[in-house]
Amino acid sequence: MLQGKTALVTGSTSGIGLGIAKALAARGAQIVLNGFGDVERARAEIEALGAPVLYHGADMSKPAEIEDLMRAAAARFGRVDILVNNAGIQHVAPIEDFPAERWDAILAINLSSAFHTIRLALPAMRAAGWGRIINVASVHGLVASAQKSAYVAAKHGLVGLTKVVALETATTGITCNAICPGWVLTPLVQKQVDAKAAAQGLSPSEATRQLLSEKQPSLQFTTPEQLGELAVFLCSPAADNVRGVAWNVDGGWVAQ
Ligand code: NAD
Repeated sequence: MLQGKTALVTGSTSGIGLGIAKALAARGAQIVLNGFGDVERARAEIEALGAPVLYHGADMSKPAEIEDLMRAAAARFGRVDILVNNAGIQHVAPIEDFPAERWDAILAINLSSAFHTIRLALPAMRAAGWGRIINVASVHGLVASAQKSAYVAAKHGLVGLTKVVALETATTGITCNAICPGWVLTPLVQKQVDAKAAAQGLSPSEATRQLLSEKQPSLQFTTPEQLGELAVFLCSPAADNVRGVAWNVDGGWVAQ
């Protein structure tokens, strides 16, 4: 279904980004891999699906590096057809104690990076008459939780940006939508489970159970594979007129 298409997934060396990159690769897309950590493992997992991979280590908090990433993707594959803005970080603290440096980093990586990749990807998508922009927001783009000021502000901003881009491309073959996961057990969330266990003297399994039961009525994590399949649907012809949605996959979190 996606043969000949190029998908750039930011922050795809781990977690949800890797799950989405693998789902798109399994449908024939060539992948631009980005992020830190175990790059070679992620590359091998995607290449095992038969997909060509270009890795670029742009720090998504740095606009000049984002420009270099977009140039490299175009030089290798011609253009980016599917742009998945997924790179993100978290920091949890009351606002009075929230380090200003963490606020700036979260806004840059979780929100401003998407502004830069979208503005740089759109001209070639318009010329081709087709494109898919998928922003990995969060339930925290729809509702808030205490101690997550920067994350909630950035994700609400990303949902707003999604709607604006959807309107500006509404008469074209380009769509822009957001995916809003609740809890997904990735390294980003494992850190929050570990912090809860340490702060409250809980076992890892009890900390996990409490984390889920506070917010996610299904009491189950969503998986990166499930989010990958939603991204595949958003890239399919059936989703040609799905525009500007913020699609929660959250075990009932925002239904409460
Ligand atoms: P993760 O920590 O497993 O992955 C984050 C990815 O982003 C990694 O590949 C990491 O290397 C990359 N990254 C971090 N900083 C970067 C930077 N400056 N430049 C480039 N890449 C960078 O986390 P995850 O849970 O898979 O999160 C992925 C996205 O999903 C994030 O935007 C996150 O906010 C969102 N999300 C996660 C959950 C969840 O429960 N895990 C829920 C809702 C939304």
